[in-house]
Amino acid sequence: MKSDINNIVIVGGGTAGWLTAAVLAAHFDTKTKFNITLIESPNIKTIGVGEGTWPTMAATLRRIGISEAQFISECDASFKQGSRFIDWNEGESYYHPFSLPIGYKDINIVDHWLESPSDLSFDEFATNQAGVCQHNLAPKQATTPEYANVLNYGYHLNAGKFATLLKNHSINNLGVKHISADVSSVNAHNATFIESVVLADGTQIEGDLFIDCTGFKRLLIGKSLKVPFKSVKDVLFNDRAMAFQVPYSHENAAINSATHATAHKNGWIWDISLPTRKGIGVVYSSKYGTEQQAFDTAEQYMQKHMPHINIAGLSPNKINIEPGHLETYWKGNCLAIGLSAGFIDPLEATAMILVEFSAKFLREHLPASRNELGLLAKKFNKRMDLHWNNIIDFIKLHYILSNRTDSQYWINHREQNTIPISLQRSLMMWKNRAPWHADVEVAESMFPPASYQFILYGMGFQSKSTLADRRLASEERLHLKKLLSNKHAELQKLCQHLPTNRKLLLDIKQSWMNRVPNVEI
Ligand SMILES: Cc1cc2nc3c(=O)[nH]c(=O)nc-3n(C[C@H](O)[C@H](O)[C@H](O)COP(=O)(O)OP(=O)(O)OC[C@H]3O[C@@H](n4cnc5c(N)ncnc54)[C@H](O)[C@@H]3O)c2cc1C
Repeated sequence: MKSDINNIVIVGGGTAGWLTAAVLAAHFDTKTKFNITLIESPNIKTIGVGEGTWPTMAATLRRIGISEAQFISECDASFKQGSRFIDWNEGESYYHPFSLPIGYKDINIVDHWLESPSDLSFDEFATNQAGVCQHNLAPKQATTPEYANVLNYGYHLNAGKFATLLKNHSINNLGVKHISADVSSVNAHNATFIESVVLADGTQIEGDLFIDCTGFKRLLIGKSLKVPFKSVKDVLFNDRAMAFQVPYSHENAAINSATHATAHKNGWIWDISLPTRKGIGVVYSSKYGTEQQAFDTAEQYMQKHMPHINIAGLSPNKINIEPGHLETYWKGNCLAIGLSAGFIDPLEATAMILVEFSAKFLREHLPASRNELGLLAKKFNKRMDLHWNNIIDFIKLHYILSNRTDSQYWINHREQNTIPISLQRSLMMWKNRAPWHADVEVAESMFPPASYQFILYGMGFQSKSTLADRRLASEERLHLKKLLSNKHAELQKLCQHLPTNRKLLLDIKQSWMNRVPNVEI
């Protein structure tokens, strides 16, 4: 039996499948040594949503060899500088920006904010990014090099167009083999080891390593290898989404710099600005609200923010979600990446970044032979468990800090028995000191402690300052004072020199059309 691993078969052609294929094929020599084949069904549609990324996507795209101008032009992408949470405490709003707080490497700015007589909110005190977002400004200038930034950013994008770009790039430039066919069965030994997958016409496709990117179908790892699924519905209640694609009122309408996430009675609404349209989605729990109520919520939101829209003319994409994840993500010679590994509430856009982390893990740890599979599976499963636990804690945090009492949905979110023990412990700790670097459990952490700070203090959580306990407190105060002294002038400068999102995106698109004159976008 062949022992080395150089024939990789990916089943599923959504964002997860193509991003994984591109990450691997950009690294491994597909001309002489590695076979990377992606099989996708011509009949089963991709999920068609997933419009927000983390800043990690910039490095991922650069590494797989896609120009930022091409990505922005072909994927109808815009810049995402973070999220703005509206009405999570009724009548209030705050930002979770992607730029880190001032002095973040050495100074926990929360302690200084708590001591400060200023009435600035935490996001305003800690960075200038919230101020920039309020003016719909871009995170860079036209002259800033590709993938470089003035302020940290991820992207908003059209999910279908993104998968198409990745597919074309993987096939045409990276040597990925593409098969358009339904996989109808899987040949596996004792539900442990996959030898081949069988296509609808009976063709068998053999492989050394299989990657299940079949979305919620979990065809390989779930149906064939029988890996159980762990629901987290008792912690995170949302199990439905209703997504709309909405035109702007006019072609020069402002493009928001952040995802807007507005809480409603039984969930929340996303509002994402792409260059040519908006994505609006109602996320809710079917235990607490009906489909009709979700539709009415969308209608009210659009009447308030987009009165030019007649919602009756729109056909929403209705999606059922089973919140949770697999018990193990890698079994035998098969691993799950993307929705097949799991999915929960998309509040902080945590799905694609997990695809990036998973693909990167495989790129860096591709087993040389079958003997290594067990060891690497163990390592991958441990790491993914940490990520999932962190994601669940972080998303749940947004709900339990809310003071909303307008429905049982919000009240039950704060019930002690729905809060993971790990989060309960963290909250106890954060009452006595703010989140800080020591809290990070994995080197490749998804949310820096800064993210926890923005949510906690944006929502009015009370922590104690530990500054007075420290021997070097006055030196630290002085150092931060210096760092903050220019902050206001810096914000004014940013507002003066940064273009609006729309202006910069138009410039980038124009520059791409000049570089590739025959391209149609
Ligand atoms: C409401 C909602 C909002 C979201 N928002 C975000 C967000 O803001 N940010 C973010 O990062 N993520 C978000 N996500 C997640 C994101 O959409 C997914 O992580 C991403 O699209 C990857 O999906 P996928 O490729 O795993 O699955 P899919 O897109 O479902 O693709 C599955 C693929 O498997 C193929 N397939 C299935 N069965 C077979 C078969 N038998 N034979 C061959 N092929 C088969 C299908 O044809 C398809 O190509 C959101 C998800 C939802 C539901």
